[in-house]
Amino acid sequence: MRVQEILKSFSNFPVSSFEQIAPGSSLILSPHPDDESLGCAGFIATAIKHGRPPVVVIVSDGSASHTGSHLWPPERLASCRQEESQNAANALGLPSDHLFFLGLQDSAVPTAGVVFEQIVRRILDLAARYYCQNILVPWRHDPHCDHEAVWIMGQRVKALRPNLRILAYPVWGLTLPPEQEVEEPVPAGWRLNVEACLPAKRRAIEAHRSQRGLVVKDDPDGFVLPEYLMEKMLQPYEIFIES
Ligand SMILES: [Zn+2]
Repeated sequence: MRVQEILKSFSNFPVSSFEQIAPGSSLILSPHPDDESLGCAGFIATAIKHGRPPVVVIVSDGSASHTGSHLWPPERLASCRQEESQNAANALGLPSDHLFFLGLQDSAVPTAGVVFEQIVRRILDLAARYYCQNILVPWRHDPHCDHEAVWIMGQRVKALRPNLRILAYPVWGLTLPPEQEVEEPVPAGWRLNVEACLPAKRRAIEAHRSQRGLVVKDDPDGFVLPEYLMEKMLQPYEIFIES
């Protein structure tokens, strides 16, 4: 299916209530410290309003965004990015005991093997501890290996606990070239109206200062969140794909 047609079907997803989209409690898997804000800040804020703050799990340490910097070696950058996700969570009112960092190496999140299985167990433990019925994962066609790896984790979680619901949220996938072909059946899902949460969502995204070119000054080739992605992430609806 062409990306253009998939994006069109996303925009035709029914606008549904939070209860319909995610009954019960949810656990959000974020590949990097910022995807939770980009793809799900409106969902997080809405869940909190409903008295059911989600569990947010940041899978990788985000240390690969500025590999050319000498002043910000991986460890320093990882701790900065962790603090940024904490600030973003605070901006949305997420309780600090609902935010977890798994600390896997950025751009090397495994898709199989011992560490992969350990992480899947950890996710299942957290989901059980917080009585989560829904697991949110990135969309499988987000063009980044860590996003795909975390989607695969979601598939493994589902195989081990078929009663858990898996929902996918797109981030970078929304910026794929319209003519590109991806292997995906006609997607089904919902749109959540997050208009009322947009100011908080903007604050959450802005908390990721290192990703906005405001922290690391000695890596001209370092990552900067592009304006075209910000624009797509600050729309009045967030998209959740049935998986
Ligand atoms: Zn990411």
